Amino acid sequence: MTQVLDHPLASHILTHLRDRTTKPATFRTLCYQIGVMLALEATRDLPTENHPIETPLEPMDGTVLGQGLVVVPILRAGLGMLQPYTDLFPSVSVGYVGLERDHETAVARSYYCKLPPVEGRRILCVDPMLATGGSAIQALNVLKEAGATDIRLVTIVCSPEGVAATTAAHPDVPIITASIDRELNDASYIMPGLGDFGDRLYGT
Ligand code: URA
Repeated sequence: MTQVLDHPLASHILTHLRDRTTKPATFRTLCYQIGVMLALEATRDLPTENHPIETPLEPMDGTVLGQGLVVVPILRAGLGMLQPYTDLFPSVSVGYVGLERDHETAVARSYYCKLPPVEGRRILCVDPMLATGGSAIQALNVLKEAGATDIRLVTIVCSPEGVAATTAAHPDVPIITASIDRELNDASYIMPGLGDFGDRLYGT
């Protein structure tokens, strides 16, 4: 299942992220803002537990989050989507997966992997651009090998090709995104897209 954020504020933020004249400092702020919206959407169905409390006026049954949460940014661009989770979710754990493309096979391989315990926890794998799907598929393989069973992939912009490839490889992993764009170009950039996300985020 692929879910596209449907909110006028998300469209507003995305337009400014796409704008080539947006400078890195503003780009990072916009990235944080849309990241918050995506984080809320990706956790909408988190289970809750009863939590009895007393308000200043009377006892009541409240609820608190009932399932551990792990956010896993794919290095390096995924780091731009991390902070909303650490700001919003008090007991979130953070894992990292670093992937690079093998120049001979063009297949993404993991060069770094540091994960907290994943079993029984909701895993949010974050990567802003789902282009060919190669990195996302490989990251999801790594997470499943570590024992993850409840995974969401959170992206800002997808290509239709990336969605199709990722869904074919991991049909059990819902994708939450702000946009499915028109197509990939010959250089595997998403069109119209927003360019190289890592470069725009870090001004490289
Ligand atoms: N990665 C990016 O940063 N941008 C794209 O368009 C595709 C992959």
